[in-house]
Amino acid sequence: MRVDILTIFPDFFRGPLDYGIIRRARETGLAEVSIHDLRNFTKDKHRTVDDRPFGGGEGMVLKPEPIFECLESLGGLAPRAERINGSAKQSVIVLSPQGARLDQALAAELSTLERIVLICGRYEGVDDRVSEHLADREVSIGDYVLSGGELGAAVILDTVVRLIPGAVGNEASTRQESFTEQLFAGEGARATPESGPSSTCVSGGLLDYPHYTRPADFRGMAVPEVLVNGNHEDIRRWRRKTALAKTLRNRPDLLERVTLTDEDRELLDEVRSPQAGI
Ligand code: SAM
Repeated sequence: MRVDILTIFPDFFRGPLDYGIIRRARETGLAEVSIHDLRNFTKDKHRTVDDRPFGGGEGMVLKPEPIFECLESLGGLAPRAERINGSAKQSVIVLSPQGARLDQALAAELSTLERIVLICGRYEGVDDRVSEHLADREVSIGDYVLSGGELGAAVILDTVVRLIPGAVGNEASTRQESFTEQLFAGEGARATPESGPSSTCVSGGLLDYPHYTRPADFRGMAVPEVLVNGNHEDIRRWRRKTALAKTLRNRPDLLERVTLTDEDRELLDEVRSPQAGI
């Protein structure tokens, strides 16, 4: 995948690009990431990227010219209509709190593309002609207002790149995570006890279950007994139950959206009972 990021603060990305999965994906060629300084596409001596809003009002707005010219300089981008109808596996995204909210499903969709351009706004935002005529979508990383799109671009980059096949060492781990609704091709809806506990807990759109590692007893805090007794079916059931409990506690809205099995409903009843102890 090729990713281009348009920003007035290119140095912002020094950290996010240089660690962990993103760094490895860049080194192995899975992701080629380029940062473009919008000030290089200005023509005045002050390298002006912003101007006052038409109609009056507070703040400044990012001008369209540097963004259009930067994008045109990249080469290889399909026309907007082809990006919108999906015939081109590309997307030009404006970061905006008014955009479609990023979630795991959108990240998975973006991870199938060959090319992504991320346009970072600042000040009061970006001249809307960029969204209307150049970009094909606006994306928000959550219902709050940041001072710039750079953090959002870093978030999209991270969540999308780690879903590219081969980016994460153990690919199964990205399939068992919180919010991951879909099973991947060739995987069964429910693993059997024989297949071992590690493959039994696709989250099915719930939050992930709790994880523990050694030592089994740390300062008197013991890991749950069920995890060390080696019974795969008990572990699978405990993981599902604790995932349901955590989702009920922290994100009950997710429970409205997922398809619960009979076993899930039984486990939820146990979780809700006063003796649950979870
Ligand atoms: N005037 C805008 C509004 O009220 O919707 C807020 C502009 S914000 C201060 C400046 C820039 O930060 C935006 O153009 C966008 O690029 C970025 N930004 C702020 N919040 C964001 C969010 N939740 N998701 C993605 N980008 C965001």
